[in-house]
Amino acid sequence: MIQGPGGSSCEDKKDGGGCDSSQCGIEKLKENDNSRIRNVIAVMSGKGGVGKSSVTSLLACELSKKGYRVGVLDADITGPSVPKMFGVRGLADSNGLAIFPHVSATGIKIMSLNLLMPNEDDPVIWRGPIIAGAVKQFWTDVAWGNIDYLVVDLPPGTGDVPLTVMQSLPLNGVVVVTSPQDLANLIVTKAIKMTVQMNVPIIGLVENMSGAVCPHCGKEIELFGPGRGREMAKAFGIPFIGSIPLDPVLSRLCDEGGIEKYQSSLFINIDLMALPQ
Ligand code: ADP
Repeated sequence: MIQGPGGSSCEDKKDGGGCDSSQCGIEKLKENDNSRIRNVIAVMSGKGGVGKSSVTSLLACELSKKGYRVGVLDADITGPSVPKMFGVRGLADSNGLAIFPHVSATGIKIMSLNLLMPNEDDPVIWRGPIIAGAVKQFWTDVAWGNIDYLVVDLPPGTGDVPLTVMQSLPLNGVVVVTSPQDLANLIVTKAIKMTVQMNVPIIGLVENMSGAVCPHCGKEIELFGPGRGREMAKAFGIPFIGSIPLDPVLSRLCDEGGIEKYQSSLFINIDLMALPQ
């Protein structure tokens, strides 16, 4: 049940207590006439800085390596980092009817507000509804072409944009990202509960920054204490996808725009084709 700021709640609930957006009068948005998108996966985190955009990009790369046609919709409007991680820049083309996504070195299509701003370091000083409107336009106005998996990088938290995406896009599921810090664990619980309440399937939980390997002695160091990702996933009855250590190579490749060169097997065992269609 969605609790509004004044304690109001969605009246139209499914049996499980969650909000069925189709019953709330919020229609799923129609994709652009030039898009045929088969699956949509969102990546969510409770708080910023846990590596959500990195996980989004790694998932996109993994799917692309498996031969799927992949797009990344960067819905983290005020902190868009996906174009930088893929090394794409410059204004996106438009023909007046549709906007065309940039294409990465390995053929992943990318759309982000940073590709519509004259200067990528200009701040976006917009109120929530305007931001949510921009994200909707990334669905309705972008000519994505044929896409097997569109991966959506949500902004951190449970605000306007995650709500809009869950209500307006035909999501197959959500990947939730956390890190070993207690605070991240506490806040990711909110993200998981929101997803459950919105009746969106959870694909699984990823724990990022879980330890590091000492470059001198090779010993694993739990920089933020022992991870609780696996326990947390078990407690919520959701799959634990795996953990990613703090890795300077990943950080460097993100900074250099070379994330497609990163070797990761994180998503190798996930059967995304088994997602609800
Ligand atoms: P978020 O989307 O949650 O705000 P990002 O994915 O943008 O987080 O990551 C924040 C920064 O941390 C980026 O510079 C990224 O390169 C770095 N980073 C993320 N995960 C790792 C990791 N496992 N090892 C090293 N650096 C990482």
